[in-house]
Amino acid sequence: MQYCPRCKVKIRGNKRCCPLCQGLLEGEPESPAFPVIKKPAVSQVSFFRIVTFVLIVLEIAMITLDFLTDRALPWVSLTEIYAVICWADLWIALYFRNNVIKMVTIELYIAMVICLIIDIGSGFRGWSVEWMIPSTFVGMAIITVIIAKILHISLEVYIIYLFTNVMLSLLQTIGTLSGLNKFPAPAVISMALLLIGGAAMALFRSRELKSATGKWFNL
Ligand SMILES: [Zn+2]
Repeated sequence: MQYCPRCKVKIRGNKRCCPLCQGLLEGEPESPAFPVIKKPAVSQVSFFRIVTFVLIVLEIAMITLDFLTDRALPWVSLTEIYAVICWADLWIALYFRNNVIKMVTIELYIAMVICLIIDIGSGFRGWSVEWMIPSTFVGMAIITVIIAKILHISLEVYIIYLFTNVMLSLLQTIGTLSGLNKFPAPAVISMALLLIGGAAMALFRSRELKSATGKWFNL
């Protein structure tokens, strides 16, 4: 332990001078009081910049190829879309790496929107609103609970995701009531299951739900 003869204080760790009087210290320095965090060779920010650069190069190459071949190659535009999806996915994964549930939730919501857009864009055969979206809402609730159990996340932390899931699943009423959804059974069942879950949360877990929604809306 180090010692400042002027201030008559003992100092832990390894200091070059006294933190009070800046004077010279006596005694043997110890190992630092706080651990030194090693920086990774390539930080995540520069890794992401490299990936973004690769994406930009790829997109420019694909647009050029598309132009030179007079839009004859169908896989070109598909590659462009997939590259952007992969890039966005990586961004989400890096950004929310400390919150797996948030990451998975956002990815699944994006997947639902993308499927809806693809369905509408390809002539709206209805597979997105009839099957994909209803099953994803229910699947998302199950996955959220499974991840929380595996990672020992407390209900207070993840109940907001379940609650949001129930609320957003009710948007399916738009497709069901407007007649856009020609086969509404899966959507209706998915909403019914999630509403039962929502009612259970509101009745038996009201304390966690109240605290979680309070935090959410205060932000
Ligand atoms: Zn001192």
